[in-house]
Amino acid sequence: MKANCWHGTQQVQVEHVPDPKILNPRDAIVRITKTAICGSDLHLYNGYIPSMRRGDVLGHEFMGEIVELGSAVKNLAVGDRVVVPFPIACGHCLQCEREMYSLCENSNPNAWMAEKLWGYSPCGIFGYSHMLGGFPGGQAEYVRVPFADIGPIKVPDNLEDDQVLFLSDIFPTGWMAAEACNIKPGDTIAVWGCGPVAQFAIKSAYMMGAAKVIAIDRFEYRMRIARERAGAETINYEEEDVHEVLLEITGGRGPDACIDAVGLEGHAPGLHGAYDRVKQATMLETDRAPALRQAIMECRSGGTVSVAGVYGGFIDKFPMGAVVNRSLTIRSGQTHVQRYMRPLLERVQNGDIDPSFVITHRMRLEDAPRGYRIFNNKEDDCLKVVLEA
Ligand code: NAD
Ligand code: ZN
Ligand code: ZN
Repeated sequence: MKANCWHGTQQVQVEHVPDPKILNPRDAIVRITKTAICGSDLHLYNGYIPSMRRGDVLGHEFMGEIVELGSAVKNLAVGDRVVVPFPIACGHCLQCEREMYSLCENSNPNAWMAEKLWGYSPCGIFGYSHMLGGFPGGQAEYVRVPFADIGPIKVPDNLEDDQVLFLSDIFPTGWMAAEACNIKPGDTIAVWGCGPVAQFAIKSAYMMGAAKVIAIDRFEYRMRIARERAGAETINYEEEDVHEVLLEITGGRGPDACIDAVGLEGHAPGLHGAYDRVKQATMLETDRAPALRQAIMECRSGGTVSVAGVYGGFIDKFPMGAVVNRSLTIRSGQTHVQRYMRPLLERVQNGDIDPSFVITHRMRLEDAPRGYRIFNNKEDDCLKVVLEA
């Protein structure tokens, strides 16, 4: 089959790899119809996540048709159209029973690698390094889905692929980021980033009763989508003083909650940015966190900082003094996607939201290298690339 494979920093290539096979009774083989490129894939593309190997099949946002089922999967049938959540979860361990699916204790065969870096291991993730299981991803014609009786959900015929594809990751991710803010009616929420995850965080915050959402980025075309499609006010951090604008909007108190939808490749102008780039290049820190630092500093006292952006290791100049002295709460996590798929599918069905609004580019799987390039470089007003397998 054809698959999009990682070959080193900023090198991906579509090539022929062996077809996946059923290995366990709870497996399914899915023929991919649509798959997307995520900001998390850019962290792999840019070489920031350790334990990638040449030839690894990428992709963790995908959907398709079940073509083969293991003998123990009773709730799905061959021919079903399903969306697959990116965390691989067994459904029966302590964490899964608490609906903390991205912490599944049974799905990462390489847990020892993750334990070295993080103390304990989270779940396995499709197409996301050997440290997270070495599972081939879904930017391919077919994929093996372990624990298929727990993850994938069948989607109703009346919904288009583009409307349900993002239930695999970014819609639940934006939702969980907003949910972590414990939003009360009238709250003002600030979101760092206007990428796809941020767009869903903005939409979700409004659905939860926020009075105002302010989104911060530097790409005008992304901020325009945040204003026009998600209803945010925006701040261009290269043109305005974020601190001054937030103070003015919030009556001098700061936003009630701040969402980091940027992650470990945060960009910073001037000396601050140079500091992080040098430290990262010389391995003195693994992650650049200008957005997270600013989110913490800007959050009102007693407020919540919700971190949806992915961080991999260690960051420098972490303002712990602000966290302690101003009673801030930090919440984070890889999204427990399985927990949100059904309720969010209902919202799509009810017409509360049409997640396809983030799609700017559709192309063939063969064009994945170009998709990665333009999404990474923010060329051609690219916000979200969907690949058709
Ligand atoms: P993206 O790269 O398209 O968007 C990131 C945006 O942040 C860009 O528009 C960029 O201009 C902006 N940005 C960079 N530096 C900034 C700064 N200092 N201040 C404000 N904005 C800044 O990525 P995405 O797909 O939207 O994903 C965002 C993050 O969410 C990534 O780190 C991704 O790995 C993470 N993610 C996490 C989960 C999860 O389960 N927690 C799931 C999906 C994605
Ligand atoms: Zn993702
Ligand atoms: Zn589990």
